[in-house]
Amino acid sequence: MSDRPLLLLDVDGPLNPYGARFIRPRGYVTRRLRPSDWLARQAPGSRLHRRGLRVRLNPGHGARLMALPYQLAWATTWMHDANEMIAPVIGLPGDLPVIEWPELFVRDPEGLYWKTRHVMAWAAGRPFVWVDDMITDLDVRHVAAHHDAAALLLPIDPRRGLREQDFQELERWARDL
Ligand SMILES: [Mg+2]
Repeated sequence: MSDRPLLLLDVDGPLNPYGARFIRPRGYVTRRLRPSDWLARQAPGSRLHRRGLRVRLNPGHGARLMALPYQLAWATTWMHDANEMIAPVIGLPGDLPVIEWPELFVRDPEGLYWKTRHVMAWAAGRPFVWVDDMITDLDVRHVAAHHDAAALLLPIDPRRGLREQDFQELERWARDL
């Protein structure tokens, strides 16, 4: 298993298409969740604090992801809350490895996305695909120049989340590796 490439998963964007604000996309369910990072940024006693964050998730995604020839890991601000709160809804095991960010949303001196250097360090020379809605061309170029193995940065539209074509791309990339 461990010779499989890594598939690093962001939650908000790829799994929770938060950009689809008014219409629940087909196949998705709505949950109110209270992840610790989000909770820390809400005023205690506020309506949102009480109700929780609205999250849309596709219960079919876990099986689709597990069927891919990758080793899955979380690359999200949800960190361990992803195993606890997201995994049971979409049907993933609750013990996937988690990238632990030392700090969230830290501005990068070269303008990279704040996760990028941590993702590369965590992958530690292994091939990986990273699905996230905030990846830019700068990150793609940086990883291509500095990562010692194959890597694919797959930007996901947060209005749509992971789509059929993304699953196909993930299949293809692993096969061609
Ligand atoms: Mg995101």
